Amino acid sequence: MAIISKDEQSPYWASLKFKFGLSYIFIIAAVLLLMNTYPLMVSEDLVFRSKEASMQNSVSVMVYSLSGLDRLNEENVSDAMAVVEETGLSRILVTDSAGRVLYDTRETGSALGKYALYAELVQALMGNDVFSCSYHTGAFRSHASSPVLYQNQIIGAVYAYEYDTEQAALLEGLQSNLLRVSIGIAIAVLLLSFVLSRALTGKISKLLTAIRQVRSGAYSHRAEIRGHDEIAQIADEFNSLTDRLQVTEDTRRRFVSDASHELKTPLSAIQLLTDSILHTDNIDPETTREFVADIGAEAQRLTHITEDLLKLTRLDNDILDVPTEVDVEPVLEQVMRMASLLAQEQGVELTYRTTGRCRVLATRGEVHQVIYNLTDNAVKYSGKNGIVWVHLEEKDDQVVLTVADNGPGIPEADLPRIFERFYRVDKARSRAAGGTGLGLSIVHDTVTKRGGSVRVENRPDGGAMFTVCWPAQKGGQDA
Ligand code: ADP
Repeated sequence: MAIISKDEQSPYWASLKFKFGLSYIFIIAAVLLLMNTYPLMVSEDLVFRSKEASMQNSVSVMVYSLSGLDRLNEENVSDAMAVVEETGLSRILVTDSAGRVLYDTRETGSALGKYALYAELVQALMGNDVFSCSYHTGAFRSHASSPVLYQNQIIGAVYAYEYDTEQAALLEGLQSNLLRVSIGIAIAVLLLSFVLSRALTGKISKLLTAIRQVRSGAYSHRAEIRGHDEIAQIADEFNSLTDRLQVTEDTRRRFVSDASHELKTPLSAIQLLTDSILHTDNIDPETTREFVADIGAEAQRLTHITEDLLKLTRLDNDILDVPTEVDVEPVLEQVMRMASLLAQEQGVELTYRTTGRCRVLATRGEVHQVIYNLTDNAVKYSGKNGIVWVHLEEKDDQVVLTVADNGPGIPEADLPRIFERFYRVDKARSRAAGGTGLGLSIVHDTVTKRGGSVRVENRPDGGAMFTVCWPAQKGGQDA
């Protein structure tokens, strides 16, 4: 199956760096926009309110001073207005009920005697108190107007206008300060986000490079990422995954090469023997029979190896038969009967002992295989005049099987690798004894798949000792 990978040179806009950068810019822009508009709007509103209060107050003072008059004319208005304190307003107009100006504080361009038609004034002559304020081109322009009443009759109106540049200058100062601060913040945040996003995406790029290297088969490549953040943690996880991958890959390669070597040896022997039969003239029937017997033995050996390999493949793939409660003692006795024949042949003394009630959750075949492989090895490797002790007992919720011998034992350096596939201390001896180098791997995998364990050690007074522990099965009836 072809592996379709994403284009390694993705466009810049699809990169994380670009996306991070863009999102930072959006966030900063939104914050700065808010910072430059909201405080100004609030300040403007505050100024409007204070102006409304102060102007309406001034206008009502003026209205009050005019309120005793039954009708308004230039003289009495001017007299009444003379007593009103200085208000600081830019312009004050007083009109009669028709809107004719009776009083105007402006000297140049005075509207005295004319009709004033300001919208606020018209509203006031209709009986309303009016205020309006606007801010533009550097000034607040405020207008306030109120009617003057005599016995509930509108006899005129007061109109006040204020042009304020002082408050506007304060507001503008605030605006330009905010702008300066915003530009400073924007530059600082952009620089910071650039540095941060570079650091972050730099780490991701390193990780990506490492993943691609490993994908292309460089299993020894590791992602070198410093720090303790999530990306550094992902890199650590990736590195330990790659370590395991490398171990698995090494094991796989070694297994394939060992398996090919193991299969090649008997095949070469068969080839050689058949060639000899075919190419030797006048070969006598006795020799032919011997050669064919040898071919048969080699074929037998191939069968053993392939059977063992099949067993291991089934264990690797977790293809296990449904376990039942197995009473180990009768299985042990059966194996002992078979092994004692072999032991007699080899001049080895085989003894066994069982204590307690030993039941495990497995299959009879598995238990048989484990006991047989270990006993067979002990008999094979203990040599002439060897002694083999097999002991089965139940101890601390475990069924413990010990197979010990008084043979040469296993060199300490080989002990850690003894359960590896095709691992043999003495290859020639093992082959001569018909071994495939897979027996202990099968024991190990069979036991561990059922939750047990197996270990090996050398006995202090010589010989090897294998100990298998299965979890003891408690449920069944005593036999
Ligand atoms: P083999 O088919 O070669 O016996 P095993 O996996 O059963 O393969 O055993 C692996 C190797 O462990 C053997 O080749 C032998 O060198 C060593 N070994 C196993 N059992 C014993 C024992 N009881 N004493 C000494 N060496 C042993």
